[in-house]
Amino acid sequence: MLCIYCKKPVFGNIGLTVPKEGPAHQNCYQANQALKRTFQHLEIRELNDQELKELKELVVAEENSRSRSLDDDGVDLF
Ligand SMILES: [Zn+2]
Repeated sequence: MLCIYCKKPVFGNIGLTVPKEGPAHQNCYQANQALKRTFQHLEIRELNDQELKELKELVVAEENSRSRSLDDDGVDLF
């Protein structure tokens, strides 16, 4: 069994199985998880430039709308 990340043999309890991918060293798996940029189930690195830009705009718009509604507190209360 070869590690799917470093392609070296995986023996016994130093390894684990990544679902749908195959065996991996725990160290390699953890290093790979740290490199991944996922949010919820979204693989941010898989987005193309346009999609990334749209996501960024959505995030900024959401932030703006939240800070605006915070500012409104105390003004719109009856
Ligand atoms: Zn490995």
